[in-house]
Amino acid sequence: MEHLTGIIYNIQRMSTEDGPGLRSTIFLKGCPLRCLWCSNPESQSFLPQLLVFENLCSGCGRCAAVCPHMAVTAKNGRYNRDVNLCRDCGACASVCPAGARVMSGAEMRVEEAMRVVRKDELFYRNSGGGVTFGGGEPVCGGEFFFALLEACRNEGYHVCVDTCGCCPAEQFSRVPALADLILFDCKHMDPEAHRRLTGRGNRLILDNLREALNSGVPLRVRMPLVPGANDSEENIIALAALLRDFGRDEVDVLPYHAFGSGKYGALRRELPPFQSYGPGKLEETLAGFARHGLKAVLPSEAFGA
Ligand code: SF4
Ligand code: SF4
Repeated sequence: MEHLTGIIYNIQRMSTEDGPGLRSTIFLKGCPLRCLWCSNPESQSFLPQLLVFENLCSGCGRCAAVCPHMAVTAKNGRYNRDVNLCRDCGACASVCPAGARVMSGAEMRVEEAMRVVRKDELFYRNSGGGVTFGGGEPVCGGEFFFALLEACRNEGYHVCVDTCGCCPAEQFSRVPALADLILFDCKHMDPEAHRRLTGRGNRLILDNLREALNSGVPLRVRMPLVPGANDSEENIIALAALLRDFGRDEVDVLPYHAFGSGKYGALRRELPPFQSYGPGKLEETLAGFARHGLKAVLPSEAFGA
C-alpha cells in the first residue's frame, strides 16, 4: 500500500481547530462539491493547479521564457496566464523568484506524507492530538486515503476525518471503523437549495451522515454558516430536527469569512457572492439556533483551543 500515490495540496502542522490537541492536517485535493462560499477554491479540482498572485509579480519575465504553451500574458509590467492555454504544468512556478506563481497540489506517496506527519508525533502525544484528513473531500482520495489513514493508525495517532459526506456509500461506510473522530459538514437541509449552492443534492450526504451517526463513532456535525445562504430559520429548524432524532443538541458552526478571496483571483475565478457577518449579526444568527434547541459552537470553542 505504501506505493500508492495521491494529490495533496497542503499538510498543515500544529493546527488547533481540526480536532483535539495539536494536529497535522493533511489536505487531499479534489471535491465533488462546488460550494459557492468555498474558502479553498484550489481544493476543488482533483489535479495540481497553478495559482498566480499577480500583485507579487516583479515583472522579470522568466515565466514567459519557460512556458511551453505560450500561456503567459503580460499587462502593465505584470505577468499572468491565459487560463484557456495554461496546462498547469508548473514550469513557470519553478522559476518565479517572487512567489507570484505557486502550484497547488503535488503527487505524494503514503510514506512521503508520513515522513511529514511523524515530525510532530511528540506534540500529538503531549497534547492529545493527532492527524486530521481534510480536503477537498478526503474520502474521494480512495485507496490512497485509506492507506494513509491506516498508516496513521499503525503509528498510534488519533485520526480524525473532516468530510462533506459526498462520496460513494460503499467508500464512506469504511470510515467509521477506522476513524477516532469524524467532523461531518452539513451545508443545507433542503435538497434544491443544496444543489443550487453546492452543485449537488444532499441525499447521499444525509444518508452517509445517518450511517455515521448510527455507527456510534465520535462525530461532530459542522455547518459552514453563510449569510443569506443557509442561515435561515427554516434551515436551522430542519437541522435541529435531524439532530434531535439522534439525541443531539449541538452543532459546530463555521461563520463565513472572505479569507480565500485572494485565491479566487489567483485562479482567475469570480469572488463568492457573500459578505462576512457584520457586528451583532452573528450573535443574532446564533440566537436563532438556541431558540430551536441547538447549541451553536464556534471553532475556537469546539476543542478548547
Ligand atoms: S503552468 Fe505551465 S502552461 Fe501554465 S503558465 Fe505556467 S508554464 Fe505555462
Ligand atoms: S516569473 Fe514571477 S515575478 Fe517574474 S514575471 Fe513571471 S510571475 Fe512575475
